[in-house]
Amino acid sequence: MAKRKVVLTFPPELTEMPITYHLVKDYDLAINILKAKITPGEEGKLVLELSNGDEKRIQAGIDFLKKQGVIVEPVSKEIVFNEPECVHCGSCTAVCRSNALSIAPPEWKLKFDKELCIVCESCVTACPMGIIKVSF
Ligand code: SF4
Ligand code: SF4
Repeated sequence: MAKRKVVLTFPPELTEMPITYHLVKDYDLAINILKAKITPGEEGKLVLELSNGDEKRIQAGIDFLKKQGVIVEPVSKEIVFNEPECVHCGSCTAVCRSNALSIAPPEWKLKFDKELCIVCESCVTACPMGIIKVSF
């Protein structure tokens, strides 16, 4: 299964366009909305993960978005940890809305699922040890 995480920026006139409908119906893409900030009449942002068995279908969907005037950028930043210094306090998990960061029994140790991370950067300031950084 091919997957791609992208950041979509909508100009104000496109914020009410049924983007996800077209991507699903016309391009057969599975869509996971990782983050959304859309106010009708203002610039909007969506972070999506697009999947399909055929990478070309994903590219066709992205080409469609660009043609409509949507700015499409890859999620190119990533979160990095200085893991040996982690004290597994859980502060970062409390602000991680995508559940990329978790602490669970029986180990009670921090786990990071990079696939779920939307690079919102909330955990960077939440860590009292200052060991979470954004890498470009
Ligand atoms: S940047 Fe941090 S808080 Fe945001 S999704 Fe990724 S791991 Fe979670
Ligand atoms: S907030 Fe920092 S020290 Fe605490 S669990 Fe997260 S990475 Fe580790």
